[in-house]
Amino acid sequence: MPKLNSLGCYFDWALTKIGRSDSELLMQHVLGISTTEAYSHRSRQVDRIQGEHLCKLVEERACGMPLDYITGISHFWTIELEVNRSVLIPRPETEILVEECIEHVRDGDSVLDLGTGSGAIALALRSELDIHVVGTDSDEHALAVCRRNASKLNLNIEVLLSDWYSDVTGEFDLIASNPPYVRDCDPRLAESDIRFEPRTALLGGSDGLDALRRVIGGAMSHLKNGGHLVVEHGFDQQDATIELFEKAGFTKIRWRNDYAGTHRVVCGTRHE
Ligand code: GLN
Repeated sequence: MPKLNSLGCYFDWALTKIGRSDSELLMQHVLGISTTEAYSHRSRQVDRIQGEHLCKLVEERACGMPLDYITGISHFWTIELEVNRSVLIPRPETEILVEECIEHVRDGDSVLDLGTGSGAIALALRSELDIHVVGTDSDEHALAVCRRNASKLNLNIEVLLSDWYSDVTGEFDLIASNPPYVRDCDPRLAESDIRFEPRTALLGGSDGLDALRRVIGGAMSHLKNGGHLVVEHGFDQQDATIELFEKAGFTKIRWRNDYAGTHRVVCGTRHE
């Protein structure tokens, strides 16, 4: 730990370790100061405990820990979510899935979000519509994060511990899921941000499709007639995902790309 005292010393040290914008953000997060203050009050003394805390977070960031895990805050759709290492950091591309769901859901409908994690999809949908949403996850720690997010946002959703459909009862107007779909041997798993995320939320077996098979294969018996299934999948899994929808008997199968132009979402309807 470096021996520092003034704001300016801390800032200069952070700059040698991590980029400017991350340094500004962590100064803001720990010391509660604006970016302008970080530059204009360089001689201000920093409390020792706060200073040590800042150094610890800067070191973590320098090791590649995602900022959202360090600050415990993530932004998705129009909402702010608490995140920790039990849940995936919500990705902007998953907003495409939310957009697709909104096209098929009306006030009063019931929606199931399988593998909800922080509750990103469930809470984004609930923030837009007066619907009954059930968010499931097989990890109790993830569900605790989801519950806290629902309560902080004052959004009423049901949270259920379930291994995909194992504890789900009833039929829904829509099922949404961003299941783990990364291949077990994907070289990206050793890279930067992703290596800090929970493997159970990322890995989908040798072809990445294990969870998608379960989600798509079990959907028909939990959907009302005319109900919809909307799933996210990996960049090269569109054909395989469509095939799983066809095999499960879905009609009106549609797909969407994310804003980067990558195949990302498939949707199908249970025949009326
Ligand atoms: N979109 C994530 C990634 O590739 C994976 C999320 C998932 O497996 N559902 O980084």
